[in-house]
Amino acid sequence: MIELTALTIQEARKKLDKGEITSVELTEAFLKNAKEKNDTLNAFLEIFDDVLEQAKEADKRIANGESYPLLGIPIALKDNLLVQGRKVSSASKILENYTATYDATVITKCKEEGAVLLGRTNMDEFAMGTSTENSAFGPTRNPIDPTRVPGGSSGGSAVAVAAKMAMCALGSDTGGSVRQPAALCGIVGIKPTYGSVSRYGLMAMGSSLDVVGSLAKTVDDAEILFETIRGWDKMDSTTIPNERKRIEKKDTYVIGVPRDFLTTGIDPDALVEFENALTKLKNEGHTVVDIELPTLKYSLATYYIICPAEVSTNMARFDGVRYGFHKDGVDRIDDYRQSRGAGFGKEVRRRILLGTYVLSSGYYDAFYNKAMQARDLIRKDVFEVFKKVDAIATPTTTSPAFKIGEKSNDPLALYLEDIFTVSANIIGTPAISVPFGTVVRDGVALPLGFQLMAPDLGETTLFTLGNILTKNIL
Ligand code: GLN
Repeated sequence: MIELTALTIQEARKKLDKGEITSVELTEAFLKNAKEKNDTLNAFLEIFDDVLEQAKEADKRIANGESYPLLGIPIALKDNLLVQGRKVSSASKILENYTATYDATVITKCKEEGAVLLGRTNMDEFAMGTSTENSAFGPTRNPIDPTRVPGGSSGGSAVAVAAKMAMCALGSDTGGSVRQPAALCGIVGIKPTYGSVSRYGLMAMGSSLDVVGSLAKTVDDAEILFETIRGWDKMDSTTIPNERKRIEKKDTYVIGVPRDFLTTGIDPDALVEFENALTKLKNEGHTVVDIELPTLKYSLATYYIICPAEVSTNMARFDGVRYGFHKDGVDRIDDYRQSRGAGFGKEVRRRILLGTYVLSSGYYDAFYNKAMQARDLIRKDVFEVFKKVDAIATPTTTSPAFKIGEKSNDPLALYLEDIFTVSANIIGTPAISVPFGTVVRDGVALPLGFQLMAPDLGETTLFTLGNILTKNIL
């Protein structure tokens, strides 16, 4: 008997098209896992009630000779992607009973191909966080060691894939939220080029940083999902025209390592694995060179000004009147205060305060404008380096998954988790995290992620190198 939940999308596609398995069988296998494990892991906030009907419909289409990469493939969705007629909450109390009135473009694309939408996954509230502990509906647990966090904010999506509760998943990445949980759960996560995937129907966090990304067991699967969801969209004016040329595949690559940036704060065992990955790339015929990126160290500070500024603007629409949760106050202004005070969690309120502060007239020039200038400098610096290298490599995180509760009262420690991931969002370039190596903690082998960043529209570079790195591992 083949283990259906262990199949990759490619393997399942072949079997489905040949009639060796049905989408109903495949979906039932994942549903079984999801039902068994969800009480412990809390990866899904909701499993949709029509999953098997969707699978039956997919089987009919397959029987009619249709074949699309995702036809009949069970996929999990982060709870900030709108599915018409379904609840969508961004794991926030303020939207607990909110129902989406339209499909996000990425959902439309998945539906057109006949993917089986399994349900919505847990996340940090409005995608603010690094551990999925900021959900209004309880933390998600790492399947490799349930006392540890799965990373975040797309923790539920990463766990759904890692624990074989879904074949693949969609997440969103504003500062690392696809790559970091992928790294901590031992799977692949890609943050595509800004604008290569439509944000229409993705709940906005930081609009100049947000992008929908894919999470999967293998690099090829992540690529299949990316190819389905990408493309220009008339509903999102920031999407890239389809005619724009993508960077093509090469035989050998030059990979740059910003050594100065890797000196502090990284777990020594994790650093060893990072070096092993570089050696593997060299052994496969690629060139690894040291690069200097002096402005990279300002990425995190820049991100934590720009991101809260955009968050404070985007969260303004949740006023207790237009959407979801409402709490009565003594007058209209007090209504807002009460509704937002009780509806939003701590981290969201913290970012609204930070963001409002950096955007306020007295501080705009001192903080927001400076951050925008720093963003330009970082971008220039990185693009100068991209004249000489095809990709930039760093670890995805400084250490493996930490314990639930270990950092939850220390927001700065959590912000530091994003040190290697935020640059790609500030610049807009694509970046991938692939699993490479483990470190043993408390007797458990915890996965680590290796991150590669490429110039705009360089996803092929990332998939090619990611495949080389994970060969004989995944
Ligand atoms: N951890 C980062 C933050 O909290 C990134 C979040 C994200 O990518 N959505 O801002």
